[in-house]
Amino acid sequence: MFTTGYCNLKCDYCGGSFEPNVVPWKPKVDIEKLKKIIESDPHPVVIFYGGEPLANPKFIMSVMGNVNASRWGVQTNGTLVKLLPENYWRRIDVALLSIDGRREITDKHRGNGVYDKVVKNAKYLKDIGVKELIARMTVTEDSDIYEEVTHLLSLGLFDKIHWQLNVDWTEMWDVKTWAYKSYLPGIRKLTNLFLEELSQGKILKIIPILGVISAHYFQPYRGSPCGAGYKSVAIKTDGTIIACPIAVREEWAILGDVAKGFRLLEDPIPDDRCKRCEFLRYCGGRCLYASKEKFWGEEGFNIIDEINKEYLRIVLEIIPDIEKLLTKGVIKKEDLYYDPTEDSTEVIP
Ligand code: SF4
Ligand code: SF4
Repeated sequence: MFTTGYCNLKCDYCGGSFEPNVVPWKPKVDIEKLKKIIESDPHPVVIFYGGEPLANPKFIMSVMGNVNASRWGVQTNGTLVKLLPENYWRRIDVALLSIDGRREITDKHRGNGVYDKVVKNAKYLKDIGVKELIARMTVTEDSDIYEEVTHLLSLGLFDKIHWQLNVDWTEMWDVKTWAYKSYLPGIRKLTNLFLEELSQGKILKIIPILGVISAHYFQPYRGSPCGAGYKSVAIKTDGTIIACPIAVREEWAILGDVAKGFRLLEDPIPDDRCKRCEFLRYCGGRCLYASKEKFWGEEGFNIIDEINKEYLRIVLEIIPDIEKLLTKGVIKKEDLYYDPTEDSTEVIP
């Protein structure tokens, strides 16, 4: 649920607020109709989104005060946390805070002082009893994925770590060279760390690893793991219901509106290559938005896809070791279950 199109930051891979004619900064949604549509879902998970969702705490309070949901969450840049009163925060099941890893990496792209603010607010949220915190990273050519993820784990604040690659929506950059030199070796180190911890019976909740392992042992992804358009939808501040919260301008993404209802996508995998792909059950076609829009063209899409497949191969290589741990009883199969739509994460970076 969008609460506003406004954002108080201007991170360089995003650009900040939406234009008010695209995502209005003040919601024009009838709460009663919103309540009806959300409560018609047998397991409604509501995640507040923006812009910066906490820039409109009144709307969050009004929705939480009127609507019954099974699970509440916020995807926030982590700087305006105090605007929502504590008694509302205590009802929040999951808060996803944007932080890219080490201080210098986060502040370079999000602005000076952002890292310190987010870490301070993460501590505050932990102290007042928010059930779960997820670090939500954007990964650029400046990121060393192993360093950034292990740094965030070392803070002891985040229950889960997730990231997205800064590809296909900003200017094209040489992602292939970076991936083979830095990213994919880092993924291998993280996967080894995940396995080491697993052999001690501990599940390291690195979502791009855990979510793939989960799809091996449990249901495959029927489309983008985020559920875009088939299991999850986004509600704009003007009441339009769309398949993906990034697709605020795209006709193909419109599924309906709060007043009249909506229909889910019949086919959530637009690219035929994905339907024939050996990785489909783990990947679900990656990001629906990227595969519809292809900002970097076919060539760019293929480069990202090559990196994606290599990452999946690296993660899946540990399945035989996991089998042994399961047989020995070091871990239980259900410990490996992860449903990204409970958290509004994407699994596949
Ligand atoms: S790995 Fe590539 S081709 Fe295969 S399902 Fe994912 S996005 Fe589609
Ligand atoms: S992964 Fe892609 S389709 Fe899913 S929510 Fe993000 S941008 Fe939209």
